[in-house]
Amino acid sequence: MVKLVIVMKTLKTIDKWCKGCGICVEFCPKNVLGLIDDKVTVQNKEECIFCGQCELRCPDYAIFAEENNYEQAGFNARQ
Ligand code: SF4
Ligand code: SF4
Repeated sequence: MVKLVIVMKTLKTIDKWCKGCGICVEFCPKNVLGLIDDKVTVQNKEECIFCGQCELRCPDYAIFAEENNYEQAGFNARQ
């Protein structure tokens, strides 16, 4: 039996760690992020390509992509 693993990614932000520097906003290639009241916000999540730039560039670890894996029974490869 072949198992299918479905990987779901979601952008997460941690408000109390965000200092509103805007680095992630500047580096995002898809204009997904913005700032409201000096906190990062995900404004356009459908456009996110999970390139990892925001997570990589944030000096305060205040934004990251959370990954959830789901296993699904697949098909029998010998059939
Ligand atoms: S993962 Fe990439 S596309 Fe998505 S918000 Fe971060 S920088 Fe933008
Ligand atoms: S780079 Fe980090 S601290 Fe700066 S605005 Fe983005 S999430 Fe907030």
